[in-house]
Amino acid sequence: MAHVESLDAELQAAYEPVIGLEVHVELQTDSKVFCSCPTTFGAEPNTQVCPVCLGLPGALPVLNRRAVELALRAALALHCTIPPECKFDRKNYFYPDLPKGYQISQYDQPLGVNGWLEISVNGEVRRIGIRRVHMEEETAKSVHVAGGTHTLLDFNRAGVPLIEIVSEPDIRTPEEARAYLNELQSIMRYMEVSDCKMEEGSLRCDANISVRPRGTDVLGTLVEIKNMNSWRAVQKGLEYEIIRQTRLLSDGEPVVRETRHWDEGRGITRPARGKEEAHDYRYFPEPDLVPLALDPAWVAEVKATMPELPAERRARFVRDFGLPAYDAEVLCADPAVAGFFEATVALYPQPKQVSNWIMKDVLRLLNDAGLPLAATPLRPEHLAELCRLVDQGTINLTVARQVFEEVFANGRAPAEIVAEKGLAQISDESALLKVAREVVAGNPDAVKNYRSGKEKAMGFLVGQVMRATKGRANPELATALVKKALAEQQGQE
Ligand SMILES: [Zn+2]
Repeated sequence: MAHVESLDAELQAAYEPVIGLEVHVELQTDSKVFCSCPTTFGAEPNTQVCPVCLGLPGALPVLNRRAVELALRAALALHCTIPPECKFDRKNYFYPDLPKGYQISQYDQPLGVNGWLEISVNGEVRRIGIRRVHMEEETAKSVHVAGGTHTLLDFNRAGVPLIEIVSEPDIRTPEEARAYLNELQSIMRYMEVSDCKMEEGSLRCDANISVRPRGTDVLGTLVEIKNMNSWRAVQKGLEYEIIRQTRLLSDGEPVVRETRHWDEGRGITRPARGKEEAHDYRYFPEPDLVPLALDPAWVAEVKATMPELPAERRARFVRDFGLPAYDAEVLCADPAVAGFFEATVALYPQPKQVSNWIMKDVLRLLNDAGLPLAATPLRPEHLAELCRLVDQGTINLTVARQVFEEVFANGRAPAEIVAEKGLAQISDESALLKVAREVVAGNPDAVKNYRSGKEKAMGFLVGQVMRATKGRANPELATALVKKALAEQQGQE
């Protein structure tokens, strides 16, 4: 089939995509789910292993209590019902990354069921159902050697605790899928369940998608898409598949029930081969682990001690700080950023001003550096001090932003940088008037333009004063003094 770029409006109106997402999230425990091996990311391959996670004969799993607690917290945060008992099952399939020949997972009795989360797209709030949250273990990591004929295996990851979060097929567009993943990531970070780094594989997403004529309740033929390794890939993969399936249906051709892989390089999905096609996992109860009956008192305790949810924090930011909903959404996406905002406002109670600094400068610098906030030397005290220096007229906003970049890089106090580099604003009228006179004398064309009514020329002349003072002139004073110098010049003529 030819590569198709988009659907015309008529086809879009006639057909509706139905999307469900399966998200795997690695739990941030110190040790693995069924043994005491550490889970540190990036260690030398095959150094964090033992007979249990290597699947050696006779080794017995012991359930990690902390993993259950984090999984429970995730399920509760997603408003799931917690059944009185859940159990573990063996999911059997053969693949080199699975040392035991089966994966310990949960099949018919998951930890949590019937939850939901809310997303907001273009101002419309929609509730997306969560069918189930279950626990399982990671497989080993396969490393395909570039240009080689073999694959390497790293068992450090085997046995790292995971939860799988399965949504109901309530999602209708790629934008909603994106919003769902953003909210899910946010919730998991707030709950300190997972760092949810897609690039390190601690959050992975597969999609189930079908297309049907609009107005029916009948589901179309389901296609599973795998191998979407970034936010962008999820969006692009879904967009492609919606177009492909809609075209098939409108041409009267059947959609084949299958698993397809997103091919990033070619920008298409293609049928998967191998293990993805084998769906008979022959699940049966794990005989080495007893069913898990969660003590209701413990469930209640975990629920009572859960941190605030992102939706609650957003509402609070709008209510208590008077922020626009958009600011609250941007600031609250990452709990560390939201915490930084609150700590800064406690020191400098101008919420909108602080929000502007974070949304414009902090997030841009973090993005450029590819770092989380905690990995930078930036502290709330720095931003509060910088805002005060601007308010006091010590530096102007342009200089403040330069200073901020330096604070961000090395964590020095803003006032110290301003003093050391002589960046304090020049508010000395006689010194600035001298510069203004020079600028007026040295730019006869701009002066002529200004006198003939071109207001823009004033901006140019003030800009020259800023330039001559390396951006340190007080802008209002500079404008007044350029006007004064112009008047003087006219008086002399
Ligand atoms: Zn182990």
